[in-house]
Amino acid sequence: MLAVDIGGTKILVGLVDAEGTIVASEQVATPAREGAEAIIAAVAGLAKQVLAAAPSRVSRCGVGTAGVVGEHGEITSATDHLSGWAGTQLQQRLIAELGMPVTVLNDVQASGLCEGVLGAARGKRSALIVALGTGVGGSLVRNGQVERGAYGIAGSVGHHLSPLRQGRPCPCGGTDHLEAYASGTAMELEYERRTGRAIRLREIAALAEADDAEAGAVIAEAAEVLGAVLGSANNVVDAEVIVVAGGVLALGDRLLEPARAAARREALGLSRAVQIVPARFGPTACLIGAALAAFGAA
Ligand SMILES: [Zn+2]
Repeated sequence: MLAVDIGGTKILVGLVDAEGTIVASEQVATPAREGAEAIIAAVAGLAKQVLAAAPSRVSRCGVGTAGVVGEHGEITSATDHLSGWAGTQLQQRLIAELGMPVTVLNDVQASGLCEGVLGAARGKRSALIVALGTGVGGSLVRNGQVERGAYGIAGSVGHHLSPLRQGRPCPCGGTDHLEAYASGTAMELEYERRTGRAIRLREIAALAEADDAEAGAVIAEAAEVLGAVLGSANNVVDAEVIVVAGGVLALGDRLLEPARAAARREALGLSRAVQIVPARFGPTACLIGAALAAFGAA
């Protein structure tokens, strides 16, 4: 299967087998400021390189992309980071470029599918996946498939309201969403607000390990909001397991343990037993999940 991951900083194209193993891959920096046609040309160029070296004929393609994806593989909205990406008929354009059937889904949904089918939620019937990075994405996988919802945003826990209401702006335009408290960016901003020092999350983590009170408090606050939102959101979706993915996972149990306690407090009935577990895949989850979606569509 040909698989494509279109992110804000890089485009990754690879060949993924039915077991989810990446057998070949190539990547380039995303021409983020040059418009949708430049991104499509970059994808097509890499795809031709990868296909030329493929050991056998490849007949389908799966794509995980930044932006909200509509029912027909079009980008219904995207952040300004990718100029002109919203409104792109991505599936239609890639079918024309690659000459094969193409399945398109959002990148967080693709990564979630990978975790749901092959990763931390393997063998479970349903999983809520939250990806904590510079932003906070979320997706819902049931019976081995991404649940899109009516508007393509099912599982977007990053934009669930936080129980803490400090009036923090969320990049989506809203206020006090989970992303404004538990993304890496949010924790860096909060540490700077408290101490006047702008440092990266990994330095905040190192300070917390050395018993720095402010660093510990910033992480504890994010963990509390994360857990409360996950427990509360899972009262709506009732997933069998909750998977936490993304770079912020480097905080480990300092984040997960208090988040689990907060989630149990908000969870209803039997769902108090829901496990909150770390993701098994890293940055390749999107590429593998895109391929799984295409296998599913075949
Ligand atoms: Zn938001």
